[in-house]
Amino acid sequence: MTSHRANAVLEIDLAAIVGNWRSVVARLAPATECAAVVKADAYGLGMREVAPVLAAAGCRLFFVAQIDEAIALRGILPNREIAVLDGFVAAQGPEFQEFHLIPVLNDLGQLAAWRQIDAAARPPAMLHLDTGMSRLGLPAAELARLQTAPALLAGVALRAIMSHLACPDDPAHPLNHVQLTAFRAAVVGLPAAPASLSASSGIFLGRDFHFDLARPGAALYGVNPQPATPSPVAQVLCLKGKILQTREIDTDSTVGYGATYRRERPGRIATVAAGYADGLLRSLGNRGSATIAGRKAPIVGRVSMDLLTLDVTDLDPETTHPGNFVELIGPGHDVDALAAEAGTSGYEMLTALGRRYHRVYRDSAS
Ligand SMILES: *Cc1c(COP(=O)(O)O)cnc(C)c1O
Repeated sequence: MTSHRANAVLEIDLAAIVGNWRSVVARLAPATECAAVVKADAYGLGMREVAPVLAAAGCRLFFVAQIDEAIALRGILPNREIAVLDGFVAAQGPEFQEFHLIPVLNDLGQLAAWRQIDAAARPPAMLHLDTGMSRLGLPAAELARLQTAPALLAGVALRAIMSHLACPDDPAHPLNHVQLTAFRAAVVGLPAAPASLSASSGIFLGRDFHFDLARPGAALYGVNPQPATPSPVAQVLCLKGKILQTREIDTDSTVGYGATYRRERPGRIATVAAGYADGLLRSLGNRGSATIAGRKAPIVGRVSMDLLTLDVTDLDPETTHPGNFVELIGPGHDVDALAAEAGTSGYEMLTALGRRYHRVYRDSAS
C-alpha cells in the first residue's frame, strides 16, 4: 500500500537489480570478475539501497565517479573495494588512504601524485588508458612513455588496467574492434594486472570484450544494453503518478502553458501529479505517453514543473477518476520507451528521476 501522502511513487525492484547482476555474471567466463557501477546514486535509484544487495549477492568491487560518492559508499560497505573513476589529485591522498579507496589514474600526472603517498600505506590503483573515447585516461603518447619507462609504475599495486568503449551499443560500429585491438596491444607492454574493457553494452558484444573484469552499470538498472535487439535484462522500475483532476474540455480549448495543444472535438483531460521537477522532461510534452489500466494515454500540452496532462478521452472513465494512478514507467512502457519519447537515453531518464517521489524498495529475497 502506498501512503495517503504519495502523489507520485517510484517502485524499485532490488531483487530484479540483483537478478540482472547475476545474469551478467552468468554471461562472463568463470574467471572474469563482475564489478558494479553505482555512480550518481546508483543511476538515481539509490546507492544506499542498491549497493548492499549487490554486495550480498557476491559483488566485491564497486565503481563510483566522485570521491564524495566513494566516502558515502564506504559508510555503507565497510568491506568492499571501491574505485573512483574521476581520478586523483594530491590533496585527496589522506582521504583515499583513510577510506581505502582505489583511484582510477587517468594520466601520468595523477600516477606521479599517487606515488607520492608512502607505499606502505597506499591502496591499490587502477590505470585508465584512452583507446578512442578521448575523454578520460592516458592518451596514446602518455601510454607510449609509460611503456618505455615502466619505472613510472614502480611500487604501484595495480588492481586493474582499464579502458572504455565509445560505441558498444552499436555492435556493427568499427570503433569497437579498433578499441579492442588497441587495448590488447596496450596491456601487453604494461605490468601484469587484471584487464577491464567493458561496461554494460560491451559485455553483450561477446567474450572477446570481457577480459578479467567487467564494469556494468546501466544493464543492472534495466536499461537495454543493445537497443537494436530485445532487452536481455529485466525491468526494475515502476513509476506511477496520481490523477489530481479530470476535466471535460470543449472544442477549441487549449491545454497547459503556451496553449500548445488544442482539441478539435470535446474531450477529457486528466492532470497527473508529476512534472519536470520529477525528471519527466519537458521534451515529453505532446510526445510522451502514460498507461492507465493497460491503455495508452498521450501526454498533451507542455509538461509543467509539478504536473502533466493526459488526453484520456478514449479511455474508460472508470479508470481515470481523481485518486487513480497512471503508470509512466512500467511493464508496458519501460524506461527506454519513455526515454525515446523524450528524445533521450534510458541513462539520462534514470539519472533525471526526481528526489520527491515516494520511493518503495522491493526485495523479494527479504
Ligand atoms: C559509467 C561507466 C561505466 C558503466 O557504464 P554502463 O554503460 O552504465 O554499464 C563503466 N566504466 C566507466 C569508465 C564508466 O564511466
